[in-house]
Amino acid sequence: MSFNKFFFLPISMIDYPNKISSVIFNSLCNFKCPYCYNVDLGKECNLDVDEIIKKVLEKKKVIDGVVFIGGEPLINFEDLLFMMKEIKKMGLNVKLDTNGSFPFHLDYLIDKQLVDYVAVDIKTSFKKYDFLVDDSDAEFTLKETARILRKNRIDYEWRTTVISCLFEKEDVLEIFEFLKAGEKYFLQSFSDNGRLLDREKLFSRCPEPYLPKKEIEKYVWLFKEKGIKIDLRRYK
Ligand code: SF4
Repeated sequence: MSFNKFFFLPISMIDYPNKISSVIFNSLCNFKCPYCYNVDLGKECNLDVDEIIKKVLEKKKVIDGVVFIGGEPLINFEDLLFMMKEIKKMGLNVKLDTNGSFPFHLDYLIDKQLVDYVAVDIKTSFKKYDFLVDDSDAEFTLKETARILRKNRIDYEWRTTVISCLFEKEDVLEIFEFLKAGEKYFLQSFSDNGRLLDREKLFSRCPEPYLPKKEIEKYVWLFKEKGIKIDLRRYK
């Protein structure tokens, strides 16, 4: 029996590209990104897996799919597996958002055809992951995740929430080298909702974490030249 708890958002128009979805949140994460704004999510997570499945069933007729979002969904692998199996039985699409640190769980889900679309974070260059997670093996896990996704069994995207000190020229160039032509890559705007995970840590290293659109745009052409399908999200 699972004691993990989840939060259910019945309808979202923005979390699954071109689809209406329900969203399932869990609050646990192996990372501690200081700019994370899911801080309050733990208090909202009060549903067990059976209650979640019941809620998806209630929405089944009006949604195209379900999105699993974090925290890090793959951290609760047993629960995730159970829910994905039930949701696929309903004939719905499944999207998974992950920080890329559980490639072998991801491979298993793709093999079992339990997931249809994956969004993976590239937070920064590998050497700066130590700002976000203790004992980072991000380089290994992200490269494994890429190898698994590039087997062409599934649709996927890469994405970066842009934080100024984690998206400096050297970081951008490393990400540029990592990505392949034809891949989708989204640059997402950082927004400060006033309830960040570790405001002091973030602002002590990045006094101005928000990077304006014009600063981002100077890199966009570079990615486009390589054939990467780059776009901006949540930038005004
Ligand atoms: S931003 Fe994502 S990966 Fe980072 S701590 Fe928050 S949920 Fe975890």
